[in-house]
Amino acid sequence: MPSTGENASRVPHYRNNKSYFSIVVVTSDASVNTLYRRVKALTRNFRSFLKANFPVRALLIIYYTVPTNKGGYMDLLKQRIQTDGLILNDSLLKVDSFLNHQIDPELMMKIGEEFARRFEGELITKILTIESSGIAISVMAGLVLKVPVVFARKKKSVTVNDNLYSTKVYSFTKNESNDIIVSKQFLQKDDKVLIIDDFLANGEAAAGLANIVKQANATVVGIGIVIEKSFQPGAKKLTQAGYRVESLARIGSFSQGQANFLSND
Ligand code: 5GP
Repeated sequence: MPSTGENASRVPHYRNNKSYFSIVVVTSDASVNTLYRRVKALTRNFRSFLKANFPVRALLIIYYTVPTNKGGYMDLLKQRIQTDGLILNDSLLKVDSFLNHQIDPELMMKIGEEFARRFEGELITKILTIESSGIAISVMAGLVLKVPVVFARKKKSVTVNDNLYSTKVYSFTKNESNDIIVSKQFLQKDDKVLIIDDFLANGEAAAGLANIVKQANATVVGIGIVIEKSFQPGAKKLTQAGYRVESLARIGSFSQGQANFLSND
């Protein structure tokens, strides 16, 4: 089984904590009122404050960090994986009770919101996913981001067609290759596309979707994954290819019927 080392060191694009700087000014005649006025003046006009009040006896800069999210935004997802997930073998996880067969809409909504949060400011115009399990999560993200969702269809084989983008994708779970297709009318060259999928294993599905975006001369803004199995090579391959990968739960290994998550999520 591949090691988890390289994936474990991947730096996420967000932090659970927010850091702040505080500036405390202590002057020679520092009564509370004077200090208050001077700090206020400092925020209004730093230069004139310095001129008027010089010499300042001490300037103290305090750096502090406030936890904004105790335990991670996706604790709920990880708990569901632990309680309801079924580990079928050393690389396959079944989550049929909330994601792949029966769907938990509330959890899907939280997942959609989290993708929207992570890709905030990216001016996404479209979400692209693959049928069928990517659809529910993508629709929730699309609701939050207010953009349309396109899903690639799987076909056994596709003949060349002027109206379709298509590419081959090898399926990790089914052990077979499928063509995936997207109608040309739903992807334009100025689209900024967020790719979303339920699982990331070898990266075939996400790379296939990225290939379709490329065929449309559109831009991949990033790849959002619900469950990344970090011991498989997909995340590393996509990151090395220059894509921003945001995975909500990253599994470093399976052991004794449990999923072991990477600690810095
Ligand atoms: P990849 O293309 O990255 O090798 O595999 C990702 C695709 O295979 C996903 O679209 C997902 O449907 C399926 N997949 C990969 N690993 C798993 C897994 O452990 N459990 C389930 N349910 N699906 C998986």
